[in-house]
Amino acid sequence: MAELSEISRFDTETNFRLDRLWSEFEDPSVEQEFQRHHRSANHTALVRALIFCSLFYVAFAITDVSALGYSRTTLVLFLARCSVALTCVVSLRIATLRQVSVTSLRMAASAVEVVGFAAFMAITWLRPTGMTVHCMSMGIMLIVVYNFIPNKLIWALLIALAATGGFIAISAASKVLDSSALLTSSMLLVFTNALGYVMARRHNRLVRDEFCQHAMLRNLSVRDYLTGCFNRRYLTDVLFDAELQRTRRYKLKLAVILCDIDHFKQINDTYGHPAGDAVLRTFAAMLLAHTRHQVDSVIRYGGEEFLLLLPQTDLAGATVLAERIRQSFELTATRAWDGREVRATASFGVVAVSCAGESGSGLVTEESLVGAADAQLYRAKNAGRNRVCASPAPSVSGAPGRDAGQEGMVAVT
Ligand code: GH3
Ligand code: MG
Ligand code: MG
Repeated sequence: MAELSEISRFDTETNFRLDRLWSEFEDPSVEQEFQRHHRSANHTALVRALIFCSLFYVAFAITDVSALGYSRTTLVLFLARCSVALTCVVSLRIATLRQVSVTSLRMAASAVEVVGFAAFMAITWLRPTGMTVHCMSMGIMLIVVYNFIPNKLIWALLIALAATGGFIAISAASKVLDSSALLTSSMLLVFTNALGYVMARRHNRLVRDEFCQHAMLRNLSVRDYLTGCFNRRYLTDVLFDAELQRTRRYKLKLAVILCDIDHFKQINDTYGHPAGDAVLRTFAAMLLAHTRHQVDSVIRYGGEEFLLLLPQTDLAGATVLAERIRQSFELTATRAWDGREVRATASFGVVAVSCAGESGSGLVTEESLVGAADAQLYRAKNAGRNRVCASPAPSVSGAPGRDAGQEGMVAVT
């Protein structure tokens, strides 16, 4: 199912443009899809970073003891270090919850960053003698915040800048460093911020580029090159089963329209193959325009044969839609490469299955449903073409073939 949503979301019109400043997708729905896709990698990175941070903070209590001995201040600093470890543990708990949102993960990451920097300020204030070493630690923490704790870049930037300002203020107030050392350490930290930000931005870009390429390749592999419709392999491998399962789970209806351009061979013979291709594109564009974006699926089933898979649609609705498409196509002319107008018609076979009751859908397969639609299409062709034939329910006992489906009704012309 995940595969289905990923592919159907990214159609040929998807906007993969990146915001230049924050290196996130401009389209919020694409960004959301990217986050969903990248969720498990982010989760692993967050867990690793939280374990590292808690160990880093608690282990360095040794340096407090060596600097201050076993004093009250050492105990206060130990408690500050433990508060960071505790925040990491709570964040780890949140990160391991099922279905946790991206925003919750980012808030957990931000909480660790804020508490971590606050504890570090306390350490710096209460142990001012090691200010040069504190400056080094601060630099390492900045790099970790920008690049190792997965968070929204703007949140990481704001937290890191506020912490840098706080650290410089504490350094200045402690008067441990002379003015030139203070200037040098401040400049080093500003530089570390810039470096951390640029590295994080570059990484953001790389993973998003990879995501685009992956989505585009998937898109290419499931679509027909000429018309942009889904290909038949995708229908069989993913789409049909996914839609049928969804229809069964929610006890809905599922309609199938099989349509075929009339006398298409004659169009090729009269106007040439490129003109035939143009007619195919016109027809496909019309099918896509008449169906619901990201709900219905349009599949190029064969040469000039297309299949519409319509979830939550009953027979009456699908028949009305087929009739509407039939009329539009009949009235539409395609301009061939040499300027000549090519007109064509199409025939439609419509079937629908309902999963609302206990029975009826159990034996439905791709073969049985498409076979029933094919039988209706065959009737439409035999009845003179350029028409819609519909059957209330498919024969579910197996693929009925072209001889079956005599019970349906003919709506049209
Ligand atoms: P009917 O009304 O019974 O459907 O007759 P038809 O001529 O449309 O059907 P037939 O199966 O005899 O011919 C289909 C033609 O479609 C034959 C084939 O060359 C052509 N065709 C298949 N794929 C393509 C394509 O991608 N481009 C073009 N231009 N023609 C194609
Ligand atoms: Mg045909
Ligand atoms: Mg055909």
